[in-house]
Amino acid sequence: MKHALAVAALLCAGLTGPAGPALAGGSPALFGALWSRDDLRAAAAEKKSGRLGEPDRSPPATTTAPVLPPLPDALAGSIRRVDTHGEKLVALTFDLCELADQVSGYDGAVVAALRAAGARATFFAGGKWMRSHPKRAMELLTDPLFEIGSHAWTHGNFGRLDPAAMRREIEWTQAEYAALRAEAVRLARERGLSEADIASIPQAPTLFRFPYGRCRPEALAELAASGLAAIQWSLTTGDPDPASTPERIVQTVLDRVRPGDILIGHANGNGHGTGEALPALLAELTKRGYRCVTVSELVAAGRPVIASDCYDIHPGDTAQYDRIFGDGTTHPRKKSGPRPAPQPAPSSP
Ligand SMILES: [Zn+2]
Repeated sequence: MKHALAVAALLCAGLTGPAGPALAGGSPALFGALWSRDDLRAAAAEKKSGRLGEPDRSPPATTTAPVLPPLPDALAGSIRRVDTHGEKLVALTFDLCELADQVSGYDGAVVAALRAAGARATFFAGGKWMRSHPKRAMELLTDPLFEIGSHAWTHGNFGRLDPAAMRREIEWTQAEYAALRAEAVRLARERGLSEADIASIPQAPTLFRFPYGRCRPEALAELAASGLAAIQWSLTTGDPDPASTPERIVQTVLDRVRPGDILIGHANGNGHGTGEALPALLAELTKRGYRCVTVSELVAAGRPVIASDCYDIHPGDTAQYDRIFGDGTTHPRKKSGPRPAPQPAPSSP
């Protein structure tokens, strides 16, 4: 299978026209045939997260997934942003984190705001999140506006996991996507969609976001061998902070946004004010001449800015999450001693 980013580079080189919907979910015909307006409408209650008594570490129903070619050397490392030579492109990204000891939410307001504005975006979906939200995941992965990347299986901390655990986090998520894609294909055949429409659903995620924005050289090597590009961010909404408001998000983003930025927010119910901020934010970005593209489109449109470490603002600043979250797959337990000071964790659940 061809690598989507490589395909994007070809498209941008002008061989087959500008990079377009082919890089995101299914065709408009397929999306329209699979889901009604009522299907897509989300209840506010879906935003809520629940905590499990015992962590769920069970594997997906099948663990097979398409094998991607190794990542091209030019994309190895932690991609923070893209030098677009001043072209006003921005990639909005939203994480769908779910740890082993929770069932997290689905923030329908985020998705609805993007759809209403026709704004392209990338969702980094946890594999276990996709398993607990199969219909929402299938809607996202067949939506021509959106691209789906991986956010690991149970939000493991790649600063701490051993190689076998890293591989499980990566492979099980690819497998869950493959299973949901197969189910979407079955539904599409049932509805008489053409094979061309069906083939428009991407075969596998080719992008990955490290939980907690945390990595180490061995983790970057695992990802590269798996054919996945590590997508960090250059601009954060700060939405995991419970004090975050729509006004603050709009102000923060508009004060800081530059061409080629990758913005991080959350759509698993852990983004405080994000859905409410988006209508005004998207309108203002458009007014200022910005165009929202998927991460693959952004990478194909310029020169990726790549770091050898994964960090939020300064190199090393996400290492603190090793102490707070350990292997990352469960919430920190209350201890009798002093608890670590709460930090706004950009990619925490
Ligand atoms: Zn996360």
